[in-house]
Amino acid sequence: MTELERKRDRAPVPAGWDYAPAPESRDVVSIEERYGLFIGGEFVEPRSGEHFTTISPAYEEPLAEIAHAGPEDVDHAVTAARDAYENGWSKLLPSERAKYLYRIARILQERAREFAVLESLNGGKPIKESRDVDLPLAAAHFFYYAGWADKLEYAFPHRRPRPIGVAGQIIPWNFPLLMLSWKIAPALAAGNTVVLKPAETTPLTALLFCDVVRQAELPPGVVNIVTGDGRTGAELVKHPGVDKIAFTGSTEVGKAIQRELAGTGKKLTLELGGKAANIVFDDCALDQTVEGIVNGIYFNQGHVCCAGSRLFVQESIAEPLIAKLKRRMTTLRVGDPLDKNTDVGAINSQMQLDKIRELVASGEEEGAEIYQPPCKLPEKGYYFVPTVFTNVAQSYRIAQEEIFGPVLSVLTFRTPEEAVEKANNTPYGLSAGVWTEKGSRILWMAQQLKAGVIWANTFNRFDPTSPFGGYKESGFGREGGLHGLEPYLEFEGGEAFGG
Ligand code: NDP
Repeated sequence: MTELERKRDRAPVPAGWDYAPAPESRDVVSIEERYGLFIGGEFVEPRSGEHFTTISPAYEEPLAEIAHAGPEDVDHAVTAARDAYENGWSKLLPSERAKYLYRIARILQERAREFAVLESLNGGKPIKESRDVDLPLAAAHFFYYAGWADKLEYAFPHRRPRPIGVAGQIIPWNFPLLMLSWKIAPALAAGNTVVLKPAETTPLTALLFCDVVRQAELPPGVVNIVTGDGRTGAELVKHPGVDKIAFTGSTEVGKAIQRELAGTGKKLTLELGGKAANIVFDDCALDQTVEGIVNGIYFNQGHVCCAGSRLFVQESIAEPLIAKLKRRMTTLRVGDPLDKNTDVGAINSQMQLDKIRELVASGEEEGAEIYQPPCKLPEKGYYFVPTVFTNVAQSYRIAQEEIFGPVLSVLTFRTPEEAVEKANNTPYGLSAGVWTEKGSRILWMAQQLKAGVIWANTFNRFDPTSPFGGYKESGFGREGGLHGLEPYLEFEGGEAFGG
């Protein structure tokens, strides 16, 4: 680091820098007052007779009444999916299936702005992320799997792949439409029908997706959406008419589902929590690395299962790196998710905000040093200031537990071996990042780290062609790529890629 760079890093960032607001218009979205369940190609009233209110976490404003699916409703949806599977979808020419998926992908692109605004409104994520990350990736997954629909024999040569039936899919609130796409696109491409349950706090883009399904003229019953809370998810898991469960969410619920399904013969994939290590060596490109660290933990308010929530820095560069990081944090704009300049939006729910606050308090109590940049939060809504903890010991809760918020724990190491040992010291194993200019070190680290995805000199990069999934308590099975098709297929002579 030159003296000039040092000087620049010490200079204060201008305080009180006011940006003009750049609000994205909400007019592009029209939200119904009340939604039913999407079963057999149409919206129906829930047999449970129950509804709940979905809100916007940024403004604490009620948005719509959402149906709560009870056991009878789940049964109705599974029956519709079974009928659609047996009486059409599974027998359709694969090239015809592909056409529907291409249509969905194109409609998502055409209606991207509408979806992005709704996603930010209901979930709290910044519009620039829903617009530039969630929506393009959601469409890309449908395009990608549309391409495989009529090439399964080539994807899995000599294995005679065939669909498995009805897939029950349960998704979380951090990437509502993207997780829906990760689940529905491969399932349909492989010839299955689905019943999907969105998260309780973020049902609106899944409900808008029903309109896309109709617009694409997908046969009724191929996609069914049942809204509700964890009870609805549990009903779907135990329904005997479901052949496969795909779940993304907390490790705790994932374990409960695995227990429930033990011995039933139902297929299962689990994409669970994480506590990823982002490992920085002293030969890294410092400024780019700081951007990667910020993206790794503050992207989507840290509501990311693969977030780089544990930063391991080589001791020799810890001081300048942390100084640069803190300085960069002062420029993060926290606030209205629908403002195009916002970097960090609203926390998804009051419950999640309470959880973040509780874990941050535990970090302070246990002795870590907290830094939060000066930051004015909106008066209404659920917000949390981007936070970094230094002086963190491996045993602290903030170094062990998934916070799922904009909170980074910094630890240090001296040698690559020590970095590996500390990084692997977690029950999770979803992702990791390595920052160094040495290719051989990247490859060596990738072999040692027990994580499903390892990024080198970048972080949080997703691509539909690339498999994603975990080790250990982060789950099993892969989504994305050819590996993501496998859990939705049966093969002559067993699995293609193994568990
Ligand atoms: P959950 O695991 O509870 O929720 C994930 C999905 O599962 C939701 O659709 C949820 O419904 C549903 N669900 C809840 N209970 C059951 C059940 N018994 N059987 C079947 N489905 C069920 O996560 P939370 O939303 O409660 O978040 C809690 C914590 O989990 C977070 O703080 C975070 O640490 C972690 N998490 C991890 C995610 C990841 O991608 N790895 C994603 C989300 C959370 P509903 O929303 O209606 O409760």
